[in-house]
Amino acid sequence: MQYAEVIVDIAAEKLDRTFSYRVPEALSGLLQPGSVVRVPFGGRSVRGYVVALGATPSCDPARLKEIGELLADGETQESRLVALAAWMSAYYGSTMIRALKTVFPVRRKMAKKTESFVSLARPEEAEALLAELSRKHQNARARAVEALLAGGMPEGQLLKKARIPAKTVRELAELGILTVRTSEILRRATAEAPQLPPAELTDGQNRALQEILSEWEDRDRPVLLRGVTGSGKTLLYLELVSRVLEEGRQAIVLIPEIALTWQTVVRFVQRFGDRVSFLHSRLSEGERFDQMRAARDGRVSVMVGPRSALFTPFPDPGIIVIDEEHEDSYHSELSPCYHARETAIKRAELEGAHVVLGSATPSVCSAYRAEKGEFRSVLLADRFGGSGLPKTETVDMRAELAAGRSGILSGRLLEKMEEVLARKEQVMLFLNRRGYTGSVTCRSCGAVIRCPHCDISLTKHKNGRYVCHYCGYSMREVRNCPVCGSPYIGGLTVGTEQVEERIRAYFPEAGVLRMDLDTTRGKSGHREILQEFASGKGDILIGTQMIVKGHDFPRVTLVGVLLADLSLNEADYRSSERTFQLVTQAAGRAGRAERPGLALIQTYHPEHYSIQCAAAQDYPGFYKEEMAFRTLMNYPPAGIMASLTGSAASEELLTEGMGYLRKYIDRIDPGGRLGTTGPAPAQIAKLKDRYRSVIYLRAAKMEHLRAARERIEAYIAANSGFADIAVQFDLLT
Ligand code: ADP
Ligand code: ZN
Ligand code: ZN
Repeated sequence: MQYAEVIVDIAAEKLDRTFSYRVPEALSGLLQPGSVVRVPFGGRSVRGYVVALGATPSCDPARLKEIGELLADGETQESRLVALAAWMSAYYGSTMIRALKTVFPVRRKMAKKTESFVSLARPEEAEALLAELSRKHQNARARAVEALLAGGMPEGQLLKKARIPAKTVRELAELGILTVRTSEILRRATAEAPQLPPAELTDGQNRALQEILSEWEDRDRPVLLRGVTGSGKTLLYLELVSRVLEEGRQAIVLIPEIALTWQTVVRFVQRFGDRVSFLHSRLSEGERFDQMRAARDGRVSVMVGPRSALFTPFPDPGIIVIDEEHEDSYHSELSPCYHARETAIKRAELEGAHVVLGSATPSVCSAYRAEKGEFRSVLLADRFGGSGLPKTETVDMRAELAAGRSGILSGRLLEKMEEVLARKEQVMLFLNRRGYTGSVTCRSCGAVIRCPHCDISLTKHKNGRYVCHYCGYSMREVRNCPVCGSPYIGGLTVGTEQVEERIRAYFPEAGVLRMDLDTTRGKSGHREILQEFASGKGDILIGTQMIVKGHDFPRVTLVGVLLADLSLNEADYRSSERTFQLVTQAAGRAGRAERPGLALIQTYHPEHYSIQCAAAQDYPGFYKEEMAFRTLMNYPPAGIMASLTGSAASEELLTEGMGYLRKYIDRIDPGGRLGTTGPAPAQIAKLKDRYRSVIYLRAAKMEHLRAARERIEAYIAANSGFADIAVQFDLLT
């Protein structure tokens, strides 16, 4: 006898319940996850989706009803997404309910939180109005109108800028002076941007386009588009998307984070106008739901957004683009720990859609699959406008120290900055990793001061306090190392604030902008700072990895990469890959336009291949070295690896539970085929007051890992000792 788990109402408020039914003889072998069926339910007959099939029912089989019929013509958008959820649940190891909740946006009853966009109703009358308001001494109102002269803005920003209460905006709106729009604001705001005609492709771009189109005609494998920043990848996405739209299909475009890639969004809107919608992390759940519904109902046909946009319920998606495909943000940290790349490929397979992955520095994993012929590799070799790659130079910081210069800015960098500033050009200083670079270290014993709740390095702030950037914990500055008592504590305290201070001391005349988590907390913080700098305001922009992407900075001719190799210290097999990507992308910001640029890479490891290849902008060289390392160590993509992270409020309980888990794994794997290691404290050994510990599993074949995972899951489910331990699987790529 076969049983099916059926979900009866996807639009339900809480998508947390499936129901078991018996599969009648006549339907045996015909059902699969996603099949649309009719089932008896509460005295009625309703439509439902099969989400799982199995030989064991979830409750007393005698009480189960039988599935009514299989609706053969019932395949819908929902059924394909259910099938995708079923795949995710099996592939990444999560419950079906969690997978369904990831795939379907849940409608919640909640007050709609919207960001209002305010603009002048009749801009042509603004000057006269302003004069009148001033005459009547209606100062708050006058300030509001004045602030809007140059164009509309989000309400929050207006209140701050004009120093007015929300009441003033309401009054002016009632008087018909201001227009306030409260939904889909960002879309509307940018949809007013002039629509641009398509650009003429260069020969190289055209060749790449033809290669992709011929792949579509032929095997239609996922395309891996490698092209340096500025080579026209975005332009190609626009071309490909427009072809798909012409066929009456829709497009999903994933980008790492809207705030950082605002220009990409704007370009899609400029090309496709009202047909574009986008998701971003600041939308409320209600707004998100509305966007998704607009997509389902055919009111929009291009969705741009972060990884969750992958699940946009378009009726017939024809292409999924993943820009900057190497970015970590495509990997979900929550169960199911899916990767948008693989999941996109699966969804495309279910929908018959094309997949295009783009990057200047593709993930080693994707490059490997391209090498194996699973992906079609397409190259955009040149930057648009023939501006060439920036010259790069590495500065050995050990030599600097030996020469008595212990500062974060090398002599060479200061010299170059002076030249560039004298020419009235701009400088970007890129500081690798915030938490890292601001950490408080003892220079005698090497101890790092960490957060007692989160076990990550605390960062020293200007006010002297040490702050945890995960949970906000802060403590007073210490004078002596808590471990060895040495007074040389502080050590590598280099955050963006300190760099800013130094810069101001060296170049008092220069305009300095800083971009990090602190200066970008406001709703549109990133965008404003980047726009300001791109428009030529400020001479020097200091920032963390946030500044390496997005905007085009025509006047930047010098990029300084400070502490290029700090990310090499990360305890992760991908540290070299990340370092190469960060340094390459940072260097790529120099000299994008007519002016030749220079990237200066300051490093303590000038001989490391990730630094050398980044300096030479040599992707194939890096890939070769890196694959040699992965193969030697059997790390992905050479080997298959998964982590099993346990977390619990009690450290003893966790240690005990993970110990049992390890013993169990050894029992089911007597030959050691899984190459199990651990348990060991996780990289973040404590998060939000829960201890975390990891076991790593490796396997030559995915089936071995899958089989082991299923047995481990069953073991955990059957043992009450695990009731207070959360265990999460994560397939590493
Ligand atoms: P990428 O996405 O690879 O960084 P973009 O598509 O953003 O590259 O192109 C970089 C810049 O060059 C953009 O400002 C774009 O408008 C311009 N550009 C690229 N190709 C062309 C072209 N064929 N015609 C006109 N402008 C182009
Ligand atoms: Zn010490
Ligand atoms: Zn903390």
